[in-house]
Amino acid sequence: MEEDEGMILEEIYDKVKPYLSAEGIKAIEEQGLTVIDSDGDLTTPTIKNRECAYAIYEKGILKCGIEKAYLMGKIDYKKPISCHLYPIRISKYEHYDALNYDRWNICSPACSNGESLQVPIYKFLKDPLIRKYGEDWYNSLVKTIEKI
Ligand code: SF4
Repeated sequence: MEEDEGMILEEIYDKVKPYLSAEGIKAIEEQGLTVIDSDGDLTTPTIKNRECAYAIYEKGILKCGIEKAYLMGKIDYKKPISCHLYPIRISKYEHYDALNYDRWNICSPACSNGESLQVPIYKFLKDPLIRKYGEDWYNSLVKTIEKI
């Protein structure tokens, strides 16, 4: 998560809380709205080292409670940018960010679906890429990719 997203979570938590699971709320109350992981990065707490404390099950499908509050019109913050950008992971360097595709076998069905629908990742992630780097950056990314 970005540094300022910790503050955003503090501001919106009361509106997000009604959409979270009892176990998630307990984990947040015990660990805090955010935690620092073993790499020193700001991240979300987990429920017993499993799923994110903000995750909720709906009909057996794991979804994001923050995004649920957003979709219900309660907040205007969708979810942490790192979640929004997944499966792209950002590594920050002094003068630039490196964006890499994170391979994870549980994403295989999404990859097959994207392939059959002919949706490359830079199009699938258009909204979060614009959210993070702006419209001009995204347009020049598209031009660069489509020239190759
Ligand atoms: S999208 Fe992010 S914040 Fe939301 S449940 Fe998943 S990991 Fe947690």
